[in-house]
Amino acid sequence: MTRALTALVMLAATSTAEADERFEVGGAQIHLVFEGGDEGFRELAREWVRSAAGAVADYYDGFPVPEVRVEVVARMGSGVGFGQAFAGRRLRVRVGRRSERSDFEEDWVLVHEMLHLGYPMLDRRHRWMREGLSTYVEPIVRARAGLATERGVWRRLTSRMHHGLPRPGDEGLDRTPTWGRTYWGGALYWLLADVRIRRETDGRRSLRDALTAIARAGGTARVRWPIERGLAIGDRATGTDVLVSLYRAMARAPYPVDLDELFERLGVTDPAHLNDDAPLAGLRRAITRRRESD
Ligand SMILES: [Zn+2]
Repeated sequence: MTRALTALVMLAATSTAEADERFEVGGAQIHLVFEGGDEGFRELAREWVRSAAGAVADYYDGFPVPEVRVEVVARMGSGVGFGQAFAGRRLRVRVGRRSERSDFEEDWVLVHEMLHLGYPMLDRRHRWMREGLSTYVEPIVRARAGLATERGVWRRLTSRMHHGLPRPGDEGLDRTPTWGRTYWGGALYWLLADVRIRRETDGRRSLRDALTAIARAGGTARVRWPIERGLAIGDRATGTDVLVSLYRAMARAPYPVDLDELFERLGVTDPAHLNDDAPLAGLRRAITRRRESD
């Protein structure tokens, strides 16, 4: 074999080879598996996986499952692409092999998928509840960890949340499995729940208390629960009935929400200029407050 050919064969071997490594984040074993990608790519991806896992562990006071396999598949181009979560044990994300640091820093997919680990599997008709949870909590988790700004969170939520509103003919979240109602209708449920819990407890409790209690009680993606089991545990943790009662109100009826009014009260009508004089501005700031100042 000529030297050039040997080099070529070695290059092919390293660029398609699987490589795996393990590290601990928030009490969990992260088993990171690369399919392709050179060392520069892997270095950036490794940092990205660590910081996403750290942000999720920060939100849950410990990573929600004891071990997870994260498969990073290098593909053509740049940017973080499609992600999938499997049964609370395995995540798979496709990432362009030409991705730069900024592509990883701007990514929301990995935190979204990791958040799927921390909530029980549910019947198909409640898919909105798990997708909405990841959709609503993802920017908040990243902001709390310093990976996103408060403005960035509200820019994302205010620009997309209208997709979650009921349209004519809507029969409630359990019976209207459109893209908008699944991702953003679900996110709207969790946003309303978070605001309501904070208001009913004068800011002493939040959605985070409910979600950490559910995960701690074993309600992770490794189990399948009837829907109200997790919600009841969350409600006990906040001393309210917000999750169950809001679920019953939104599951089988359209439940229209005046989003403009809600965003105005939160002071996020224009995310570039957050309004700190709005009636719910303090509540809004508490949602994204960084860990250090908790
Ligand atoms: Zn998802």
